[in-house]
Amino acid sequence: MGFFDKLFKKNEKTEAAPAAEPKAEPVSTKASIQAEPPKAAEPAPAPAEKKECCCKEEPKAAPAAAPAAATEETVGLQAADLGELLPGAPAGGKIKLAIYWAAACGGCDVSILDTNERILTIGDMADIVMWPIAADGKEKDIEAMEDGEITVSIISGAIRSSENEHMVKLLRKKSKIVVAYGTCACFGGSPALANLVSGADEILDYVYTKTPSSANFQADYHADAPVIPQTSYQAPEGELTIPVLYDVVKTLDQVIDVDYSVPGCPPLQETISHMLKAVADFAYNGVALPPKGTMIGVTTKTLCEECSRKKENARITKIYEPHEVDVKDGVCLMDQGILCLGPATVGGCGGRCTSAGQPCRGCYGPTEDVQELGASMFTAVASLFPVLDEDPTCGEDEIIEIMKEVKDPLGYFYAFTLGKSLIKRAVKEKGGQ
Ligand code: SF4
Ligand code: SF4
Ligand code: SF4
Repeated sequence: MGFFDKLFKKNEKTEAAPAAEPKAEPVSTKASIQAEPPKAAEPAPAPAEKKECCCKEEPKAAPAAAPAAATEETVGLQAADLGELLPGAPAGGKIKLAIYWAAACGGCDVSILDTNERILTIGDMADIVMWPIAADGKEKDIEAMEDGEITVSIISGAIRSSENEHMVKLLRKKSKIVVAYGTCACFGGSPALANLVSGADEILDYVYTKTPSSANFQADYHADAPVIPQTSYQAPEGELTIPVLYDVVKTLDQVIDVDYSVPGCPPLQETISHMLKAVADFAYNGVALPPKGTMIGVTTKTLCEECSRKKENARITKIYEPHEVDVKDGVCLMDQGILCLGPATVGGCGGRCTSAGQPCRGCYGPTEDVQELGASMFTAVASLFPVLDEDPTCGEDEIIEIMKEVKDPLGYFYAFTLGKSLIKRAVKEKGGQ
């Protein structure tokens, strides 16, 4: 039995998921807002004589949100040079904006609201044609629009139901630009951890019959035959339907063509402001957008490069949860025995978690060079074991004992990126549990 077999110790193996239509990978393309002509949208109505911003206030330089905003190293729209307010619409009309959540927790929508006073100017610069959490706008309204009529659709969440798939395909058809917003849309996020069970039936069975509250309910009211929601029910008034839950959770670009990706759980509020300003500049002033496929708000380096904690690559002999130790300021968390995914995670957030004493869990996804965040992290951790140097007594068995302290290795190392991992899902071996 190999190292990983011993570590996971479950009767699991992996298989390639039935891939949806493979689409463009959200590669991190180094680019600036003015880098290349727009590819994803129609030529802007470039008013040649009017290049100035139509803000109600003169834009002022905003302070950099995080150390990550080192301009020459960032990709896309990270530089914090935005004024306090977004531009308003010219007399000719507003751009059309749709914001949609698929399998999402709502945190990405809240991050848009977190643009504070700028949220008011989003209304000045754009007609919001759909935003389920905050505004009206029905599916039939979107269906009635011309193809490409929506300037930009910002979509958060993974794709895990027939409704998610239908809505994102509809928005793709009606939009010039589609942005995968947030880690769930980009990498599957926490919803994709559902791929570690055998499929929708197992999830529904657990949720509706095994959790304490549902088990009690079933015992009280449906002891003979537990009731699990069906996708179709014939009521006296007619057929009622609910969306079908899929066996495999997918990322947005595994279902539709995506123009830009914004990672983060949720993304930084500065990033949404920059993204919307770029769209407005494109639509109103003819400023080119970044190349299609650009990952917005990330750097070209790892999170460790922008983390304020000092790294000395101390050897690990025990793994701790953050609450088990008195975390020292300024010292790398890995050096303190706390597993941190910074070495394999792309920079851009400025170390939001590590500056607060919590390890990075990898929500920005892997760097451009790393395809497999979890595996890369295993390599980084392995290099910190005193196995090859001055302490040769730490052999495979000792390492396994140390790593067993990570209670849920797959959940820890792939908390946000399982949807994009080479490990697509776990399946049970025949006769296995
Ligand atoms: S990326 Fe994070 S904040 Fe956004 S929907 Fe997913 S879990 Fe919620
Ligand atoms: S491992 Fe984590 S704590 Fe250490 S330098 Fe990298 S990001 Fe910072
Ligand atoms: S430190 Fe890691 S987990 Fe925290 S916000 Fe940054 S990339 Fe995400």
